[in-house]
Amino acid sequence: MKFTDYPLAEEVQKNIHQMGFNKPTDIQYKSIYPILRGEDLLAIAQTGTGKTAAFGIPIISRIHDSHKKKTERFLRTVIMVPTRELAIQLTEVFDQLARKTKVKTVCIYGGVEQEPQIKRLIKGADILIATPGRTFDLVHQGFVDLKRIDTLVLDEADHMLDLGFIKDIQDLIRLLPKNRQTLFFSATITKKIKRLAYSLVKKNAIRIQISPKDPVSQNVKHSVCFIDMDDKRFFLERIIKENPESKILVFVRTKVRAERVKKALTRLNVESFTIHGDKEQKDRLKVLTDFKKGISQVLIATDVTARGIDIPNVDYVVNYDLPEEPENYVHRVGRTGRGKNKGDAVSFCSKQEKPLLKAIEEFTGNQIKRLRITKEDYQETIDFSEDVNLSTREMMNQIAEIEEKISKRKGKRR
Ligand code: ADP
Ligand code: MG
Repeated sequence: MKFTDYPLAEEVQKNIHQMGFNKPTDIQYKSIYPILRGEDLLAIAQTGTGKTAAFGIPIISRIHDSHKKKTERFLRTVIMVPTRELAIQLTEVFDQLARKTKVKTVCIYGGVEQEPQIKRLIKGADILIATPGRTFDLVHQGFVDLKRIDTLVLDEADHMLDLGFIKDIQDLIRLLPKNRQTLFFSATITKKIKRLAYSLVKKNAIRIQISPKDPVSQNVKHSVCFIDMDDKRFFLERIIKENPESKILVFVRTKVRAERVKKALTRLNVESFTIHGDKEQKDRLKVLTDFKKGISQVLIATDVTARGIDIPNVDYVVNYDLPEEPENYVHRVGRTGRGKNKGDAVSFCSKQEKPLLKAIEEFTGNQIKRLRITKEDYQETIDFSEDVNLSTREMMNQIAEIEEKISKRKGKRR
């Protein structure tokens, strides 16, 4: 099946081509027709398989066609996402898909001034991509009119229907017309959430589930090493220094730990950046944009960044701490191996974290490959780092020595 086989607006076809998409991914293949026909959809497909365009393409094409019949512009589609970064990312994809069409998307999220967002809303839009909090603020102030919404999309649907968000989503649904199309997209889903999801869509909703047994992208190589909590930073240092050209995304359990790991890396002369909920929105965006562009190479993140974010060419995802929620493993490692790319996911598991590893393996249904790593494997770095009284010159010499050893070892392996 080619994109040109679908009854899509010509302009949208051109945009798809310009974005470099040659043929639909499985989830796109299965979603485009039902969405064009106006059916409800519950779609589960692995990370990085193009879910955004799976709903973006038919939604934009449909609105463009209706504009051709000279219909007026009003808000008719609302897409809810869990994070601000994801709202921005989806808007970028929608803007690309809607180039040279009459379809307009507006993006709203919290943590920044609302005035520019209000201005854009007043100018008029067809599609709203938003996080729940700011949406309600602007609904109550009268700037967002949900009365004529005919399509609701929940991206990362299982998360949007989970504890932290469900009340918001239920409140939102109450404000929407009853007769509408509802689309849920996600990479993971639990039984409980599935039941809830079914209660929110029409009875004859279509269910699409691609590779349900293995929610992780097929392109990711997984490994886990057993490593003491206190030694984790040394092994991270080694991974970073042995892969100087690589883009590495490191996940930690808490905001405080993110800053702590960054400090530890700074002491080891490794540059890194952090992204988490305690940072200003504009810093979060800058750090993410730099990492996306490859200006920075090491990003330390909490689970805020685990879902949905599409970063080109992440070579390694390091689970410095294992996630508390097993499904977050899938989302974290899904930041690499996107589209056709390959990726590596390495998890550090301390003694205390073994039950979490078990939960992850039960959730994914796969055993993660054990990497045998001993203290000697990163002994050089430990010796060096513990000697805090070295002069800078001595330190520089030692770093040079270590790097030489590492590169020799790499040479041998090649
Ligand atoms: P998901 O939401 O499933 O995790 P995304 O929608 O973020 O995945 O897409 C992942 C990547 O795949 C993006 O970089 C996107 O540009 C790319 N992509 C999407 N559809 C196609 C396609 N048909 N052909 C090639 N690449 C695609
Ligand atoms: Mg997505």
